[in-house]
Amino acid sequence: MHEPIALTERLVSSDTVSARPNAPMVADLQGLLAGVGAHVELHGKPGDDSQLNILARLGPADGEGGLLMAGHTDTVPWDESMRATTAPERDGRRLYGRGTCDMKGAIAAMVCASERIDASRLRKPLWLAFTFQEEIGCLGAKELAHGPVHLPVDHCIIGEPTGLRPVTRHKGYVISRVHLRGVPCHSSDPTQGVSAIHAGARAIDALLRLGEEWKGRPVDAGGLTPPYTTLNIGLFDGGAARNMVPERSSFTIEVRPLPGLDPEALLDEVEQVARAAATTVSGIGLQFERVEVDEPLFTADDEQLVQWLVAQTGFAPSTVPFYTEGAFFTQMGARTVICGPGEIDQAHRVDEWVALDALEEAAQLYTRAIEEFCT
Ligand SMILES: [Zn+2]
Repeated sequence: MHEPIALTERLVSSDTVSARPNAPMVADLQGLLAGVGAHVELHGKPGDDSQLNILARLGPADGEGGLLMAGHTDTVPWDESMRATTAPERDGRRLYGRGTCDMKGAIAAMVCASERIDASRLRKPLWLAFTFQEEIGCLGAKELAHGPVHLPVDHCIIGEPTGLRPVTRHKGYVISRVHLRGVPCHSSDPTQGVSAIHAGARAIDALLRLGEEWKGRPVDAGGLTPPYTTLNIGLFDGGAARNMVPERSSFTIEVRPLPGLDPEALLDEVEQVARAAATTVSGIGLQFERVEVDEPLFTADDEQLVQWLVAQTGFAPSTVPFYTEGAFFTQMGARTVICGPGEIDQAHRVDEWVALDALEEAAQLYTRAIEEFCT
């Protein structure tokens, strides 16, 4: 039997920055989960076997329903300016190190919870899913959701840091890259060419007005801030020389849709507005590249898992301002709640830490969840 603090330290000591292989940490998890009698499967990233999803099941093989506990194995990068990197440090009631909070502590708590229950008592399956490369676009969760794995599970808890408060809603994440092509010429007579930058500027101006219009649309924001769908142009490239009319430009539109809105429909609207404005520059060509279309998370307050977590934790369902893998597990059919140890503002920083007590509290909460939903 492992303890969540020591197990977190063990997992943190495996360097799983998203760009590096997670296979060694997955092998460690595979051993731990096989040790409690779980049926374990590994699913590699297509074309890159150094990145693995691990899926483990305890309880009946043919059972429907049950509970899935999930997390990502990777971390954001670190350098030597960090207080503790892959050599975790205890200080008072805190544990420092990359991934302590986001989110190896939660994975350790989930593994410990699976060790604390008597698997022979499970009437419905308990699944554990730990994914690769969440921090660079939820790549492992997308692979699980769109791949051959069938997960007939009713309820899902994701252990991202929420201070062990149940989180049921966050915005979606949508990226479209716009490529414009004009006609280059010497800038001494710009009338001989078609400027891809001028056309891009007109498209961006129209998009910013669309973003302002979204602010005024009546929607139920469900406590999310800002309480509307946002639009941001985060990248713009273009031109080859200061004395040329530019042939090419490109920019990136990021949209964060509120739950209840269809990201594809929002992208249709965005692209229509951009095209109409850009093509007022005669002779311009443009193409859209949909880079990400990730759904918002929305789980209704009256779902059994939500009600149970509210009763257990004493906190009402709430929101987070960041994206999680939640929508992908929802797509697989599970009612999904984010609930994990640590606070998000302790993560992604040079002194990332998690409270030691939160790790044990999480292990206890997850153990009770297994009792409730699987026995
Ligand atoms: Zn995370």
